[in-house]
Amino acid sequence: MDQRVSQVLSPNPLLEEWDGPHGLPPFGSIRSEHFVPALQVAMQAHRDELDAIAAQAEPPGFDNTIAAFDRCARQLARIESVFYNLTASQTSPQLQAVQREMAAPMAAHYNAVFMHAGLFARVDALHARRDTLALTPEQRRLLERTHLDFVRSGARLAPEAQARYAQVMERLAEATTQFAQNVLHDEASYQLLLQGEADLAGLPGFVRDAARQAASERGLADGHVITLSRSLIVPFLSFSERRDLREQAWRAWVGRGEHAGEHDNRPVARAILELRAEQAALHGHASYADYALTDTMAGTRDAVHKLLDEVWPRALAALAREREELEQVMREHRPGSATHAIEAWDWRYWAEKVRQQRYALDDAQIKPYFPLPRVVQAAFDCAQRLFGLQFSARDDLPVYHPDVKAYEVRDGAGAVVAIFLQDNFARATKRSGAWMSTLRLQSRNEPGGGTSIPVVLNNNNFAKGAPGAPTLLSLEDARTLFHEFGHGLHGMLSDVTYERLSGTQVLKDFVELPSQLFEHWITEPAVLKRHARHWQTDEPIPDALIERMHAARRFNQGYETVRYCASTYADMAVHSLPRAQIPADLSAWEAQELRRLGLPDGVGMNHRLVHFQHLFSGSGYAAGYYVYLWAEVLDADGYEAFKEAGDPFDLRVADRLRRFVYASGNSLEPGAAYASFRGRGPQVEPLLRKRGLLETVG
Ligand SMILES: [Zn+2]
Repeated sequence: MDQRVSQVLSPNPLLEEWDGPHGLPPFGSIRSEHFVPALQVAMQAHRDELDAIAAQAEPPGFDNTIAAFDRCARQLARIESVFYNLTASQTSPQLQAVQREMAAPMAAHYNAVFMHAGLFARVDALHARRDTLALTPEQRRLLERTHLDFVRSGARLAPEAQARYAQVMERLAEATTQFAQNVLHDEASYQLLLQGEADLAGLPGFVRDAARQAASERGLADGHVITLSRSLIVPFLSFSERRDLREQAWRAWVGRGEHAGEHDNRPVARAILELRAEQAALHGHASYADYALTDTMAGTRDAVHKLLDEVWPRALAALAREREELEQVMREHRPGSATHAIEAWDWRYWAEKVRQQRYALDDAQIKPYFPLPRVVQAAFDCAQRLFGLQFSARDDLPVYHPDVKAYEVRDGAGAVVAIFLQDNFARATKRSGAWMSTLRLQSRNEPGGGTSIPVVLNNNNFAKGAPGAPTLLSLEDARTLFHEFGHGLHGMLSDVTYERLSGTQVLKDFVELPSQLFEHWITEPAVLKRHARHWQTDEPIPDALIERMHAARRFNQGYETVRYCASTYADMAVHSLPRAQIPADLSAWEAQELRRLGLPDGVGMNHRLVHFQHLFSGSGYAAGYYVYLWAEVLDADGYEAFKEAGDPFDLRVADRLRRFVYASGNSLEPGAAYASFRGRGPQVEPLLRKRGLLETVG
C-alpha cells in the first residue's frame, strides 16, 4: 500500500476531533509526518465545500454564498495554523522539509479557491447588486471584502492569464519559504565564541549571563556565545569594549542571507521580485508596489513618499546632532589618543556611553526593575484597567514547548472570551523577531451556528536567564512585549460576526495601530511605579530613574528613524521596479540606492534586502514596511486622547478605543473607525514630537 495512504488511514491527530480543553490542538501527539496527509485531506474537504456552494440550485443570496463561504475551511485553517506556528516557533529539519514540499500545493489550493469560476460567478453577481440586498453594514463590508479577495487573487483574469498567475503564485510560495529557511540557517549556524576575560571586556553581568546561557544551549560546557538573536547582539554591540569583535559580530549580522552557496538569498530575493512584478503586470499594474498599495489606507506610492519625505530630512538632521554628541564623548573618553570615524559597529557603543554620561542611564541599571513575569503582569493589568480583561494561568492546557505559558482570558462578566499563549524565549528552532499569531479566530458564524473564541499567540525572542537567575528585560524588550500584546488584544477583543473580518485581518497599514498604541503604557509613570520592581528587593523603580528614562526617550531617535526609513525607501524602490529593471546584483543595487538617498556612513539599515523577512518570507509586508510609520501617525495622535482626558486609563476614551479599534476588526473602514475613536482624523505632529523631530523645523 502507498505509504501516504496508510498514513491517512492510521490515526492522525490533526484530522480527529480536538475535544480537549477549549478545543486546543493535541500538541503532544502531533508529529511532522502527520501534516502532509492531513493538509491534503483538509484541502480536498475545502474544495468539496466550495463545489457545494457553487452547485446550489437556489440563486445566490448573501447567506447561501457570502456567509457560507465565510464558514468554510475550518478544518484546513486549524491544521494550517498549527503548522505555521510550529514552523515559526519550534521547527525541525522534518518540518522544514514538509514546508518545502507543501508550499506549492498549498498555493495551488488557494489559486483553485479564488479562481473557482462557479463560486466567483455567484460572488460577482451579488456584488453587482449589493445596493439592493438590504445588508447590515458588516454584511456589506464582508461582501465587498470577499469580492476584492477574489479579484485580487486573479478571479477576473482570462483563462491563459489565470494559468500563468497560478504558476507565479506557486513559485512565489516556494521562493518565500526558501528565503525564510535561509535566514534561519544563517542565524542558527553563527556563533561568536568569547573565551576569557579579554573577550568579555565591557560586558555587564546580564549580557555575560545571557551569553553563557546561549553557550550551554548550544552544548558548550564553558565559554560564552553571542548569537544573532537581537536580545544578544544588540547589547553586545552596545557594551563590548572589543572593537574588533563588535565589527565581526556586526558583519555576521548584516551578512545574513548573503553567503554564496545553497543558502544564498540573493538569487532567491531576485526571483521573488521578478515573480511579483509579473503578478502585478497580470493585474495591469506598472509595479508590485502599485498593486500592493491599492488595498491599503495609503492607496498610492505618492502618499507613502509624502509621509517618508516629511520625516527623512528631520531624521537626518537629528542624526547629525547625535553624531556630534557621540564624537564629543569619544574625545572625552580618549584624551590624547587617536579617535576614529564612527562606524556602524561603533554607533550603539558610543550611544550607550552618551546615554550613561548625559542621562546617567544605562540598561544595566534599568533591567533589574524589569523581570519578565512583572512585565507580563503589567501588560495584563493595563488590559484589565482599560478593557476589563482578566488573565488566569492554566498550566494544564496543551502547549508545544515547555516555555509556552497558557492563560484563560475572561471579560468583566466572567465569561471566557479568549485563550492566550505566550512564548517568550529565543531558541535555535525559532525564527528571529517577535510576532503575534492565532490558532483560531473569533467568529459568530461557525458551521452549525456556533461561535468561536480566539486562541491568540505571542512570540518574543528574549534571552533566557541562567538556571536559577531571573530573565531581566531591557526597556526595548519590555516595549516589544507590549507591542505584541497589543496585537494580541486586537485578536482577543475581536467582536464581529464574520471570521474574514475578525481580529487583525485589517488593512496592513492599520494593523500596527493596536500594537504600537499599546506600547505607550509601558512608559507611563503610573504603570512603572506599580509594576517595575527590583527583582531582588521588590522596591519600585525610583522616581529619579523614571525621570531620567523620560529625559532620554528621544535620544538616538535620529539613528532609529534613519535606519527604519532607509529600509522603507529600499522596500518601496525595489518593489517599484518593472520586471525588466530588477537588478542582477541586488546588493550592489541596494548600496547604490542608499547612496542616492544620502544615507550617511556608519548607520546601516534596520534590515538589508538579503535578510528582510518582512518583504521576502511572505508577501504581507512587501511594499509595506512603511506601515509602522503610517500607523505611528495614528498611535501617537491616538494616545493624545488619553492625555487630553488627563488619565492614561480614562474609561470613556478606553471604551471608544475598544469599540472602534480593538474590537471592530475589519468590520469598519479604517479611516472611519479611527475618526469614530478620536472624534476627528489623525494629525502628524504628535509623531514628530514623540520622535523629537519637531525642533529641526526651519
Ligand atoms: Zn507589529
